[in-house]
Amino acid sequence: MTADSASASTTYTFVCGDCGRVWDASFRITLFTDPNGRPSRVYVDERGRVLRSPLDHTVCPSCEGHKVHVLSPDLAARAHAAERAVHRRRTPHLHLPHLRRSSPAGQPHEPPPA
Ligand SMILES: [Zn+2]
Repeated sequence: MTADSASASTTYTFVCGDCGRVWDASFRITLFTDPNGRPSRVYVDERGRVLRSPLDHTVCPSCEGHKVHVLSPDLAARAHAAERAVHRRRTPHLHLPHLRRSSPAGQPHEPPPA
């Protein structure tokens, strides 16, 4: 890297092409001029690994799949909203069999007197 490098932090939203998991990861982007005089950049992830692209070595944290895509900011907002909607639907709901009433409502379930 040269002395004229500059860095900035950014957060990318990823989505897994296998299981649909959506998650965020922050990177420090360092801009620099390569030995050939061309502008270039590297990404440093939260573990301190230097990457050529945010997608280098990115693996889904849920299924460990490699079909990972970066979402644009507007798609990321919609994906997060969809994830929250899925979590809201996961409220407990008991699916019990429908009980047949053999006696009129309010009557005790006891055998008739012999
Ligand atoms: Zn996955």
